[in-house]
Amino acid sequence: MRNDDFNYSDEKFADIQMLRYRLNGFENLTLQQKSYIYCLSQATLYGRDITFDQQGRYNLCIRKVLEVMTEEYQGSRNQSDFKGLETYLKRVWFSNGIYHHYGCEKFVADFTEDFFREELMKIDEGKLPLRKGESKEDLLEELVKVIFDTDFMPKRVNQADGVDIVETSACNFYEGVNQQEVEHFYGNMKDADDQEPPSYGLNSKLVKCNGQLSEIVWKEDGMYGEAIRKIISWLQRALKYAENEEQKVVVELLIKYYRTGDLRDFDKYSIKWVNQHEGLVDFVNGFIEVYGDPLGLKGTWEGIVEYKDLVATKRTQTISENAQWFEDHSPVDPRFRKSKVKGVTANVICAAMLGGDEYPSTAIGINLPNADWIRAEHGSKSVTIGNLTEAYNKAMKGNGFREEFVIDDATRQLIDKYGDYTDDLHTDLHECLGHGSGQLLAGTDPDALKAYGNTNEEARADLFGLYYMADKKMVELGLLPDMEAYKSQYYTYMMNGALTQSMRIKLGNDIEEAHMRNRALIANWALDCDINRQENVVEIVEVKGKHYIRINDYARLRDIFAMQLAEIQRIKSEGDYERARQLVEKYAVKLDRKLHEEILNRYAKLNIAPYKGFINPWMKPVIGKDGEIEDVKVDYTETYEHQMRRYSEEYATLI
Ligand code: ZN
Repeated sequence: MRNDDFNYSDEKFADIQMLRYRLNGFENLTLQQKSYIYCLSQATLYGRDITFDQQGRYNLCIRKVLEVMTEEYQGSRNQSDFKGLETYLKRVWFSNGIYHHYGCEKFVADFTEDFFREELMKIDEGKLPLRKGESKEDLLEELVKVIFDTDFMPKRVNQADGVDIVETSACNFYEGVNQQEVEHFYGNMKDADDQEPPSYGLNSKLVKCNGQLSEIVWKEDGMYGEAIRKIISWLQRALKYAENEEQKVVVELLIKYYRTGDLRDFDKYSIKWVNQHEGLVDFVNGFIEVYGDPLGLKGTWEGIVEYKDLVATKRTQTISENAQWFEDHSPVDPRFRKSKVKGVTANVICAAMLGGDEYPSTAIGINLPNADWIRAEHGSKSVTIGNLTEAYNKAMKGNGFREEFVIDDATRQLIDKYGDYTDDLHTDLHECLGHGSGQLLAGTDPDALKAYGNTNEEARADLFGLYYMADKKMVELGLLPDMEAYKSQYYTYMMNGALTQSMRIKLGNDIEEAHMRNRALIANWALDCDINRQENVVEIVEVKGKHYIRINDYARLRDIFAMQLAEIQRIKSEGDYERARQLVEKYAVKLDRKLHEEILNRYAKLNIAPYKGFINPWMKPVIGKDGEIEDVKVDYTETYEHQMRRYSEEYATLI
């Protein structure tokens, strides 16, 4: 509940809204921790060109040409071709290439081919990324084809059925090979007896040369060596600031892997990493996720530096430590309660720097490593990134959404005051307690609810959270400031479940996803509840042709949630398939067409960008006379364009 004027929203272009995130509590870290974060951040930013090249072989060249072209441009900057070119470049920066970061389709240029030809011919040869023997004209023809020919390499990752997905994908992981050859090549490597198989193919490009298939490995003296050597040098500098020996070992193992390129070294590193919990700072740096490869073998380079959010982690600890109290007081039949319950502590982190495939578009949670056998034997690290969620929430505030859908000023003020925090708390209760609570009656088949099981389970966890949000125990434990706060969560929950979540569904379609179904179930059932029929606890009202949720009695709404929780728990504990089916089919699948259409129209008018990404903070070390780091300052004032151009200069390694 921080009230301040930090600017979470930044510029908007195409289908993108740029945001900023804040490094909460960074100034309170020790100099050693700040220095460690700084060095790891440098290692994160030096991987940028790798990601660009992996996502398409023309990406780096196009980025460079467009950066020069927009800088040298002499004409009017309001001219439509130039504006189109500018937006195109912003999209290229955002996607680490010329393909949409989410849909993978090639961008359609919003400037003319003639304009591009003219402007490129004006540029000095020395400023262009010409290869040996290549003329400006050659480069021009090549780029015109790549940018303007919509049939040429149209998709980065093609998953379509019935075609060769290697040959038809533009990602730069294979050259001169087809799908069958790749599958054969890696199929041969597999050894059925190996209990600890490396992730074959993860860190290399597969090419055919003179009829022979071979891997070009991404390592210190291999492909991407210029970038990897920079990464290694910053990892080495980080070593001296590590918080403990274990962290040092992790960094050393990563350096070793970057040197050898041996995937078994990567596994050794991953095992140490997953077991390393001491200290505040942690990081990911390397070829990790495989979504960028149609065959799911090749790792796209990514980096993130993070530190524990002590305030938020304390919150989940408090919840977890009191798990038994919550279980004993829950409004379900005592036969369905667990006599011994264990809460889970969720680890909340702050992102300090994002890089590669995690930048600017990023995940809000991390669960690694990916290798199945390591997960089975050594577990995984799972964290949620609190300061990114915070930025998403804060940005929502200015976009007109609450003004459009919340019924009145008083309720809006309530949500503005408590909403972000109660949202986090509700998620914590759902994850740390909700799923782990309750028990099946002896003899009940855990799969008895079949297709309705997921929705019932999510509803159970949500209701557990909703019920306790309004308990004075929350104030006693210091988890909520007062007995008003829960009302914000009750309102937004009802509004989302009954009305606004439908904005994510196409008109005429049903609700399908389990979490969305569970929210609709709870909200619509509450609206329709027997006990509220007379009392008018909560209703949908029409004001000037628009529909809103109105809650007339928050305390009674809690009673409804309690009744629902008791029933949903009974359904699970007894395996009452018929009742689960009835509830879901009645409340959680169908949308009222007229109401749905109204919500979609109101949402469309707000003109909210569907995709979001982050501008990184600019970390500036203060260097003393002896050359040592004396402090690290965090600057949040950099613009998106400035940051991208600066990165292209400072962290250029492959072009
Ligand atoms: Zn859940």
